Amino acid sequence: MRRVEGPLPSHAPALCARDGSAHPEIVEDSIRLGRIAGVQVGLNWSVLVVAWILVLGLATEALPALAPDQPTAAYWLAAVVAAMAFFASLLAHELAHALVARHLGTEVRSITLWLLGGVAKMSCDARSAGAEWRIGVAGPLMSLGIAAGAGLLAFSLDLLGAPALVGGVLGWLALINAMLGLFNLLPAFPLDGGRVLRALLWHHGGDRLRATVVAAGVGRTFGYVLIGFGVLLFTGGVLFSGLWFGLLGWFLVSAANAEAATVQRHDLLAGLVVRDLMSRDPVVAPAGITAAELLEHYVFRYRHSSYPIVEPDGTPVGLVTLDRIRRVPPEDRNLARLREIAHPLAEVPCTGPDATVESVVPPLAASRAGRALVLDADGHLVGILALSDVARALDLRALWRGAYPSSRSTAVASKA
Ligand SMILES: [Zn+2]
Repeated sequence: MRRVEGPLPSHAPALCARDGSAHPEIVEDSIRLGRIAGVQVGLNWSVLVVAWILVLGLATEALPALAPDQPTAAYWLAAVVAAMAFFASLLAHELAHALVARHLGTEVRSITLWLLGGVAKMSCDARSAGAEWRIGVAGPLMSLGIAAGAGLLAFSLDLLGAPALVGGVLGWLALINAMLGLFNLLPAFPLDGGRVLRALLWHHGGDRLRATVVAAGVGRTFGYVLIGFGVLLFTGGVLFSGLWFGLLGWFLVSAANAEAATVQRHDLLAGLVVRDLMSRDPVVAPAGITAAELLEHYVFRYRHSSYPIVEPDGTPVGLVTLDRIRRVPPEDRNLARLREIAHPLAEVPCTGPDATVESVVPPLAASRAGRALVLDADGHLVGILALSDVARALDLRALWRGAYPSSRSTAVASKA
């Protein structure tokens, strides 16, 4: 069988990622296909690009090499069938993870096929090292099983004298599934094998955070190796494969970084609620005063950089920051009212004092104001939480952990 380096990597590995946290937009931005065994299955638009490239590579290069002298139309038909079978086997790989995860108590919300492979979005991480490695190997085992099945079938049909193209499609499926299984078994987090590696480290060291940091380090290194390999191929004239490996590497590096940061943050913020970090009873400004009045009566006096704005009855309606004031030309500051220039309430994340800090970080990081209003059950403003408060708490806790690495007590929370 000749190595195909045609218009596209019809033999390049696809990637399996779990936990949409690294690329949640992929999961959200997809066409819903329906449910299989209770799991929502979707397709990202980028799959259409891959499907086209695959069909093109198969019809013009791979299949003519595997089964020569067939009519052109037969190659295209077989290529479409093979590509569809490939996506079905990718889905089977992800479903294997999902079903084992569910069996072990972790719910899988959705499976999405995208440019580089499949993403299974879990509601939470595996509960134990044992669950993690079982979930991790399930997908690659499914792929290797499909590879063995397709290979055997190709072999038997060949003995029975079936058309060469049928054998060609099955042979290619066997090969691509074997690569899917083996590539994803590499111990590079967040690939399946990397998750298995993390589970082993977690099991032996008892520390999930440290296991993740080490496994993510291996994943990142491997990602850089893939990028380097991609650049070598690309400069050597193998454009599409070079691009493909470069993309895989880039994805691995960014996913490993994101996952390590999330786990680290999760660990450092454990046990902290908004009440612990917020500034209590913040100075508020009436929504009806002007920017000039705010500067004169509030900013120079209190020296805060943001003020929730309220209606006369005390209802918060937004948040004004110094940055918003700066955008008003000085000559207009006597006219511009705070309610016109402040971030409206819809743009400011709101939370309760007992919410976990971790739950507020994503909306806080995404908001332009960089601050969240803390409202009690009756909607009264009781505090304000800035992203910088969270950053400081993270720094302090990291410092605390560094100084007292054995301390894992929740007493840290009150000291942060
Ligand atoms: Zn997988």
